[in-house]
Amino acid sequence: METLKCIGCGAVLQSEDEQKPGFIPASGIDKEDAICKRCYRLKHYNEVMDLDVNSGDFLAMLNALYETDGLIVKVIDVFDFNGSFIPSFNRIVGDKNVLAVINKIDLLPKSVNRNRVVHRAKHMLSEAGITAVDTVVISAKKNEGIDKLVDKMSALAGDLDVYVVGTTNVGKSTLINKLIENTTGDKEVITTSKVPGTTLDLIDIPLGPDTSIYDTPGIVVDSQMAHYVHKDSLKYITPVKEIKSKGFQLNAGQTLFISNLARVDFIEGERNSFNVYASDKINIHRTKLENADVFYEKHYNGLLAPPEIEQPYLSTDYSEFDFTVDTDSDLSISGLAFVSINAGAKISVRVPKGVDVVLRPTIFKGGV
Ligand code: GDP
Repeated sequence: METLKCIGCGAVLQSEDEQKPGFIPASGIDKEDAICKRCYRLKHYNEVMDLDVNSGDFLAMLNALYETDGLIVKVIDVFDFNGSFIPSFNRIVGDKNVLAVINKIDLLPKSVNRNRVVHRAKHMLSEAGITAVDTVVISAKKNEGIDKLVDKMSALAGDLDVYVVGTTNVGKSTLINKLIENTTGDKEVITTSKVPGTTLDLIDIPLGPDTSIYDTPGIVVDSQMAHYVHKDSLKYITPVKEIKSKGFQLNAGQTLFISNLARVDFIEGERNSFNVYASDKINIHRTKLENADVFYEKHYNGLLAPPEIEQPYLSTDYSEFDFTVDTDSDLSISGLAFVSINAGAKISVRVPKGVDVVLRPTIFKGGV
């Protein structure tokens, strides 16, 4: 059979998998000038759809990017800092400039000083070995900070192209859709084309006369909760609006379950308050530490759900982190929660194996 290609992006047309490049409903495949669903949505609705990529395509993308000049716009989820890092990031960057974009700022309570967030972000970027020429805080969803971002992008890119990169779920598509909306206004159709041999899409967003924006495929990294939760269930753990904290006064010897994906054991210390910042769609349960194992086995896909998980990770396949909380701190559980804890506690945290947990000075109070 002849292979038909999308006239928009050049992907081979197929009707089997909607998440893969070139998908078109079977009814449309024989039509003349057929375009894939993704190009269709882009063309008619100015909307970018996410696609899954395999690691081979991803590597091809890394190499293509390495060899190209341009500005890298690195999107980071403020709620999932650690899960936002791409292991081979420095390979992509080479000697290109990086503009760090901290997205989803609307999730943090208004009381959290934005400068403090930028300051922390810079610190964490440098810990991860990333040098950014500038850092901007935005909310792609709420259209906050987008104008400033566009200005900085134009200034830094000059006449070079812009590559938007990020792991899955950081809000890359939402951001690109906003950029399309903000920079094209009423202007005509946006088109995509592929960089040969890769899944790199060129989306012609007219930033400047010679500048285009490239959408790059997002990958799921092991340190993201998204790795353990079915794609359809991400909606439970990903907060959608300003996070309200839930406070728990705990004594040593008690455990907090944050849905079925994390448990925080309070090992030693005076009575302390644990404030959990997480999606309001998940359940948080307090138990006695000595009953925690049994409780989890019994309730992981019951009381502690949603989401439903494939296996009881916290008893079968987990990582454990021990921390001594010396100053008022936030426990950051990648993509699931912040837990702020006052100084003077020893805690132990379990998460599915591979997920990152870090303890940092709190961002919820204090100066910059
Ligand atoms: P991608 O996988 O990086 O392309 O991420 P998406 O654009 O698909 O967004 C992932 C999830 O984060 C979706 O549920 C979005 O609605 C949400 N999201 C994206 N940007 C923001 C933002 O600025 N604020 C909030 N609260 N949610 C966002």
